[in-house]
Formats: sequence, structure tokens, C-alpha cells
Amino acid sequence: MKHSPIAPDATVLGRELAPLERWLTGPRFAGLPARDAAQPTPLLSFEFFPPRTEALEAQLWTCIRRLEPLRPRFVSVTYGAGGSTQTRTHATVARIVQETSLVPAAHLTCVGADCAAIDEVARRYWDAGVRHVVALRGDVPGGGKYEPHPGGYAYAADLVAGLRRIGDFEISVAAYPETHPEAPDPSFDLDNLKRKLDAGATRAITQFFFDTAVYLRFLDRCMAAGITAPIVPGIMPVSNYAQAVKFSAGCGASVPAWLGHLFAGADEDPELRRMLAAVVAAEQVRLLQANGVDEFHFYTLNRPELVYAIAHILGVRSTSSGAPG
Ligand SMILES: Cc1cc2nc3c(=O)[nH]c(=O)nc-3n(C[C@H](O)[C@H](O)[C@H](O)COP(=O)(O)OP(=O)(O)OC[C@H]3O[C@@H](n4cnc5c(N)ncnc54)[C@H](O)[C@@H]3O)c2cc1C
Repeated sequence: MKHSPIAPDATVLGRELAPLERWLTGPRFAGLPARDAAQPTPLLSFEFFPPRTEALEAQLWTCIRRLEPLRPRFVSVTYGAGGSTQTRTHATVARIVQETSLVPAAHLTCVGADCAAIDEVARRYWDAGVRHVVALRGDVPGGGKYEPHPGGYAYAADLVAGLRRIGDFEISVAAYPETHPEAPDPSFDLDNLKRKLDAGATRAITQFFFDTAVYLRFLDRCMAAGITAPIVPGIMPVSNYAQAVKFSAGCGASVPAWLGHLFAGADEDPELRRMLAAVVAAEQVRLLQANGVDEFHFYTLNRPELVYAIAHILGVRSTSSGAPG
């Protein structure tokens, strides 16, 4: 019997389908991604935050060591709101340069400093051998209204142009599939993304999202706007639902009802929550991969295990495991 690949709903030409017919003609998964020439191993990048205490430092380095053999394209280190982690971000990035085989990317923001001070930070990175910067506007600490610093870079596009004048950095910028919360409208925000790329950024990394269709529709809009740079999906594996809701409210990402239903009743069961997180994230990356996406950025929250497992599902294997790379 020949099955149509995808039936969008339970009716065909207005005719209600009987259960068996519906099951046999309904959506199909294409199977686990096969590794062949037509489907290259995806490129991954991992994001860390700079640790505040010795215990967190140890946790970060366990995470880095666990993920290092996956040979990510780069690993990035965030910059605390208002530049509050400048020293710790620099120290973490410098240690990655000195002690690992990884390519680090330093996040840098415009908030709370003039251009000369930001240029100085960028020069120190360049002198330390760092060649990749994630250029961001940043947010005001405590969540106040953003006002450009007098004499500072007003927006991320201005920072990208400033970095270009300092050195031949590889520059990544942020993109928002659900529109940045302060943008007057989606097309203004898309024009802003284009300005950042036109100013010299080579890739965008998206804010996290849970609804894959939202991201794919955003890619369509980017392409229609003439953007050709990669818009790498930012994947945040969620094992703490309450925390995900809080993060999402802060950055304008929507939380689908199904995610709440999935995690309902799991608050007191961390083992179950880890399993749910793995299923959700694996499903998400597989759907993206099935749609042709071959580059992923993971918000690790300095915890390696989920990310390691999802990388494995994507076909990315540790170089020390003896498995084909
Ligand atoms: C991958 C990723 C990594 C991040 N890392 C960090 C980090 O390390 N540290 C941190 O503090 N934050 C980080 N953030 C959060 C980011 O700083 C915030 O989302 C911030 O509010 C916007 O930064 P941006 O670079 O996207 O800003 P921009 O691209 O400058 O845009 C900010 C807003 O201003 C609007 N805008 C742009 N230009 C103009 C203009 N000329 N006039 C008026 N409005 C304008 C845009 O439409 C948008 O609404 C990250 C976000 C992402 C997606």
C-alpha cells in the first residue's frame, strides 16, 4: 500500500478519516538520521557562562572537558549584564586558549561603557589570540530601559563595525525568531539583523525557541530579505521548566502549552525531568536536521550531559570514543 508522506489533519478533501486510515496516512518520521555523504555530520558550538565561585569553576571545566572531544566549531563565553563579568569572561576565554584545543568566542556587549573602553577589551582579546567575538547590545542590569551610553556603541550593528576596525575578527550576532521584545515590529528587527550582517558579522545565532515551525518560518523571512549568512538555531535543553518559563518571559520566547503539559507533575523528580529534556531537545534537533539544518548552537548552562547525548543523536561522536568522528 502506498502512503502519502504527510496528512496535515484528520480530513482529506473534507472527508473525515476513520482511525486506521488516519494512522496509515498520517505524519511519518523519516527514521533516525543516517550518516552518509548526503547528510554530513552537523557542526556544533557550545555556550558557557563564566563561573562566580570555585565550585562553579570546577563544574564549568568538567563541562568543557566532557564536550571538548566533540570538536565543536567554537565555544562561546557570555558577558554578564552590563559587562559585570568582564574579568571572569576574559579569564575563562584566555584559559580556553591556553589549555584546550577549542576555538573560543568571547561575547561582548555595548552596555555601560564608551567605545574606547570596549575597544580596549576587544584589543586584549585579539592580543590573547582570540579571533571570534559574539557582538551584542546587551541588557541593562536589573532589567531597566536601555539607553545607549554617551560616547558608546549604541547598538550591536555599531559594535560590529567598531570590531571590524580593530581586527579581522570572525563576528557572530544575535537573531530573534520571535522578534526582539523592544523592536517596534518584526520587519524593523529583521532589517536590524541585516544591518549587523552587512556591517561585517558572518553568522547569527538565534535566541532559543521551542516551536521549530517558528524558527523555520523565520528562516524563510530571512531568505526573502536577502540574508544568506547562516542563522544558527540556539538550542536550550530544558530540564527545569520553571526556569525556562522565567528565561522565556525575559527574552520574548514563547512557551508552547505542550511543554507545560509534558513537565506537569515532574517538579520533584529530577531524573524524569532530565529524560523529558533529552526527548524534547532530541526531537527538536532531529526536526531541524530533517529540514536541512546542519549547524547547532547549544546553551549548555555549564552542564554537559544532555548536550553530549543530543550531539550523539545528531551523529557527532567523541574523537576519543573510538567511534568514527
Ligand atoms: C546568542 C545570544 C547570546 C547572548 N549573549 C549575551 C551575553 O553574553 N551578555 C548579555 O548581556 N546578553 C546576551 N544576549 C542577550 C542580548 O544582549 C539581548 O537580547 C539584548 O536585548 C539585545 O542584544 P542584540 O545584540 O540583539 O541587540 P541589537 O541587535 O542592537 O538590537 C536590540 C534592539 O534594538 C533595536 N534596534 C537596533 N538598532 C536600532 C536603532 N538604530 N534604533 C532603535 N532601535 C534599534 C532592535 O530591533 C532590537 O529590538 C544574548 C542573546 C543571544 C541571542
